Amino acid sequence: MPELPEVETIRRDLTSRIIGRTVVEAWVSPDAPRLVQDETPESFCRRLAGRTIEELDRRGKYLLLRLAGGLTWIVHLRMTGGLIHLPPPKADGARNGCRDERFLRARFRLDDGGELCYVDLRKLGTMWLVEDESSVVGKLGPEPLGEAFDPQEMRRLLAKRAAPVKSVLMDQRAIAGIGNIYADESLFEARIRPAKAARRLSRVAAERLHWAIRKVLVEALGNRGSSFRDYVDAEGEQGMHQLRVKVFRRTGEPCYVCGTAIRRIKVGGRSTHYCPRCQR
Ligand SMILES: [Zn+2]
Repeated sequence: MPELPEVETIRRDLTSRIIGRTVVEAWVSPDAPRLVQDETPESFCRRLAGRTIEELDRRGKYLLLRLAGGLTWIVHLRMTGGLIHLPPPKADGARNGCRDERFLRARFRLDDGGELCYVDLRKLGTMWLVEDESSVVGKLGPEPLGEAFDPQEMRRLLAKRAAPVKSVLMDQRAIAGIGNIYADESLFEARIRPAKAARRLSRVAAERLHWAIRKVLVEALGNRGSSFRDYVDAEGEQGMHQLRVKVFRRTGEPCYVCGTAIRRIKVGGRSTHYCPRCQR
């Protein structure tokens, strides 16, 4: 469920807390056997220990923690993953534990006494420790808030695609970082039917969609992301944007623009919310 605004919120929060810190000990729970990719959890923990975190970046929905010595620790939170920072204990020894120890899947002790806790209810999240980042994130499309993503690029992405425009928005190889929430919200903002074939969008509609995607993502970032279910930021707090959405999970409720009931359909197998009157 975490999409670009949620992962970017975590990245920004963690930056001041963990840059320059060294991982002194890593632990992966035996009940999360699929968390670590391409090697055993033991080997992952051994290679991670002793490394200093030099840079924190994001690509689409992936967090990239660049480490001393040329390795990158890549984290994808998937549906219910969360990366929560516990600050070093206070002088009196008191510290907050991870909010829900039942879902604690991995723990990374830092050299200042702080900790990074990886929690994940459904255990779908994944981590890699790689020399070559492109082996994991190399096929992602452009960053929707990046400079390279301009209206021409949007038109190029939609052209020749017979798939519904919503499916193209959610295709990480087309554009990186958009999932179900922000695809629905962007299409409402652009007044476009989610099921419409991408290649049938007019030039004007494609440019409106480009503007809408950026508007929606920037607003969601300003609200520290959306917490419909499990998403929490790096301090374990919920975002606020779920209170501001215009169509997502508002089935049957009146459209804020025209009053028509928001409708729910399936597009590409995913629940899709739209206003049948505003979106054409
Ligand atoms: Zn409407």
